[in-house]
Amino acid sequence: MPEKERESKALKQLEESNAVRVWLMRGVVGFLGLIFLGGIAWGANDLLSRESPQPPAEPLHESILDPPKTSTEILSYLNEAIRFAKEERPKYNAETVFTFPGIEEDSPAEGEGLTVTGSHAEKIKTAFRLAAPELEEYLSGTVQKQETEYGGDFVPYLLPVNAGATDFSELRCEFIYYRCEACGKEEGEPQEVCPDCRAENAYKIAYRDNYTITLVFAPDNAASKAMFPPRSAEEVAALLGDEVYDRFQARGITTSTDQITVVATVNRESKKLLALHYQKKLHVGLGLAGKAALEPLGAFDLEFNLLEEIKNDFTWPAVHISERERTMGRNESAMLSVRLDAPEGAEVVWKSSDEKIVTVDQQGYIKTGKEFGEAQVSATILVNGREYTDACAISVRIPAEKIKLSHRKLSLAPEERAQLEAVISPAKATNQTVTWHTEDPAIATVDKKGLVTAHSPGTVTVYALAQDGYYRASCVITVKGAEAWHEKNRLSLSSGWSARRKIPPRS
Ligand SMILES: [Zn+2]
Repeated sequence: MPEKERESKALKQLEESNAVRVWLMRGVVGFLGLIFLGGIAWGANDLLSRESPQPPAEPLHESILDPPKTSTEILSYLNEAIRFAKEERPKYNAETVFTFPGIEEDSPAEGEGLTVTGSHAEKIKTAFRLAAPELEEYLSGTVQKQETEYGGDFVPYLLPVNAGATDFSELRCEFIYYRCEACGKEEGEPQEVCPDCRAENAYKIAYRDNYTITLVFAPDNAASKAMFPPRSAEEVAALLGDEVYDRFQARGITTSTDQITVVATVNRESKKLLALHYQKKLHVGLGLAGKAALEPLGAFDLEFNLLEEIKNDFTWPAVHISERERTMGRNESAMLSVRLDAPEGAEVVWKSSDEKIVTVDQQGYIKTGKEFGEAQVSATILVNGREYTDACAISVRIPAEKIKLSHRKLSLAPEERAQLEAVISPAKATNQTVTWHTEDPAIATVDKKGLVTAHSPGTVTVYALAQDGYYRASCVITVKGAEAWHEKNRLSLSSGWSARRKIPPRS
């Protein structure tokens, strides 16, 4: 009989109605809810409070090219980011999510996260597995979501982590990755052959905007035990109360914390803490026996993993202008819009760095004047006495639209030179700057003014690039071999000779 069919039949046998499943679920839920959610003290300690009690003297904004490397550096970096967040008070929200890893029916490790022994083990396993999504949702729903607005004090809601470098078995700060240039696939390590597109040696190093800092507590660590105190079976039994014990008789309870991980996301440039997640993996052993109506279930033991994730997320005040740069003609107007991450009613202050070039009103309406040039239009908000700004670069000019070269093709002998002319249109375009490039300087080089010098035989493309708009035009240069060169010289000699021959008048 197929697995699925057998399970559904077993479930049917377990109880025609859902009663047993519901009671089982409620029993387990009641148990879990009390054991894992009760009694966690909320506090306001700093991570690493043991190791660096004083705020660091260095400025918060350090070079993004100098990432923290050693365990101590990584911890102190994270600590600084947390302190910075406490100072600037971004918007905060926290939620807790529970999952049973490895017990969902369609997960690859199906059933691995759950062991049931005793009579009716398969039926109970099936019931538990089917109840898992509801259980996850229920458990997640029992934890109140916490949030504070911009400028609010979220510190009382942050779970205290009071630990030093030696409490962790693993400290990582990641921001480098590898990207397949052919298809864009991202990997932690460069692959010789891309698993997606089969491109060879196509992986190039790339950098993320954020650091992902991962701290894994050492097993049986005192600091992690202080954070997540294990409960005694007596305590649990007292917490469970009558509702569960009306239906089940507890035969034994064990809990252990397999792994506690802290995962933080920090913007590399601004050192803004974006996320601080705690992940607790718990292993639970539970012995139960059905009572009264559930007596036919008999005695059984459950063993399963439960992952609890406390997600603290931060949104920083920010102004985002709709565009980064804009090219305009003289005496033109336009509207800039902004998106705000800010408290309700926050006022945007618009400003121009040069009113002769462009003016801006307090709605973001911009107007250029008679002069050509560049200016910055900025939008600023004030949140908790701190300014947050974004800017748009306004360029008043006649933009380039096209670039053309005097030649599309040229044939040269080694050491021969030729001048290329680039023409930008419209002729009145403000920026007439052109840069020159050669594909292969061994065949031919090109100088800053477009003077080409041929070197060795071959074919090469020379480009002219308009600085404004990056328009491109090209000329294919063919450099002939030495024979061709001699041929050319002989031809010119012979044509000279034939010219002389033509001189004598016919009679
Ligand atoms: Zn690829």
